[in-house]
Amino acid sequence: MMANITVLGGDGIGPEVTREGVRALQEVGRLFGHEFVLTECDFGGIAIDNHNDPLPATTLASCLAADAILLGAIGGPKWSAPDAKLRPETGLLRLRRELGVYANLRPVAVHPALADSTTLKAEVVRGVDLVFVRELTGGIYFGAKTRDADSASDLCSYSAAEVERVTRVAGRLAQARRRKLTSIDKSNVLETSRLWREVVTRVMKSEFPDVAVEHILVDAAAMHLIRRPTDFDVIVTENMFGDILTDEASMLAGSLGLSPSASLGDGKRGLYEPIHGSAPDIAGKGIANPVGTILSAALLLRHSLGLAVEAAAIERAVATALDRGLRTADIAAGGRPVSTAEAGAAIAALITKV
Ligand code: NAD
Repeated sequence: MMANITVLGGDGIGPEVTREGVRALQEVGRLFGHEFVLTECDFGGIAIDNHNDPLPATTLASCLAADAILLGAIGGPKWSAPDAKLRPETGLLRLRRELGVYANLRPVAVHPALADSTTLKAEVVRGVDLVFVRELTGGIYFGAKTRDADSASDLCSYSAAEVERVTRVAGRLAQARRRKLTSIDKSNVLETSRLWREVVTRVMKSEFPDVAVEHILVDAAAMHLIRRPTDFDVIVTENMFGDILTDEASMLAGSLGLSPSASLGDGKRGLYEPIHGSAPDIAGKGIANPVGTILSAALLLRHSLGLAVEAAAIERAVATALDRGLRTADIAAGGRPVSTAEAGAAIAALITKV
């Protein structure tokens, strides 16, 4: 097949890890006979420097015309001054909105060889295999804001339609997995959460009757995630709760550098990125873990291009590499770490057709 993929390296370690995601895609293209046309564009801080706009019109046009977008990470101290007029993050929020990607999928799976290297007990994390579906374009991050010298407010609002569409993404995912959905809200306090619970209950009952549904309050969910993480299959939640809980959940896997994400809307086009940021503290050193980006490339193949076999080939290569002891510095635990490029090359070399 032929597909157009826009590549946004971004800032800090973004370009370093994206290079390895691209390497994996190119290897898949070569092995399976696909033509991936890759277009690199400036986005984030580098786009502020080069174009005075974190999301230049040419970058947005390329993303809108693409089948999928692979993103590294954006941001850094250079663009973070409190009085900064242009911020990389504004570009990211705008890109998500322009692409209409309202569901953010974040799988968290603990690789058996890494169960001992997380901050939690191995018996708690062994066997964790869950997916968060975070609502991405509504809620408090997008509501009206006010600010004067002594007070501030951020409006949190959701429509039933916004909750319905993200529930359907989660319901379909649960049907393809272990048929269990956990919905997280704060319905004992928030009106938006009462609507959320009502809509999730209705949609799941009428459209996904074969999926078991449970509702948990967000404070209890934060606790259960580190107490009994293997109990979860698919988790759906609103924007801010998802933002916070997915970072907590990523630590089950051992490092921020290991986890991928996919942001999806109604069509096939999606935005794929590792869950970590631009890591200015290690940028330019060539030691960042590229696995989150490489696994994001696998999600891109599966969700936007319908290439499930090719996606599984990348995931298998990552698993084999970790099994054989391939470790970047963040997960090396005293062993000899490999560089970002060495890790990417080793994983690409392990991609096979069967
Ligand atoms: P971060 O995720 O960049 O880094 C947190 C810690 O994890 C750092 O110690 C870093 O070295 C480490 N880390 C992150 N990714 C790693 C990898 N692949 N391999 C090894 N170690 C890794 O978070 P932060 O330091 O809070 O934020 C830095 C910048 O990134 C900020 O400007 C922030 O706004 C931005 N950010 C961007 C995104 C995004 O692009 N979607 C997401 C989060 C943060």
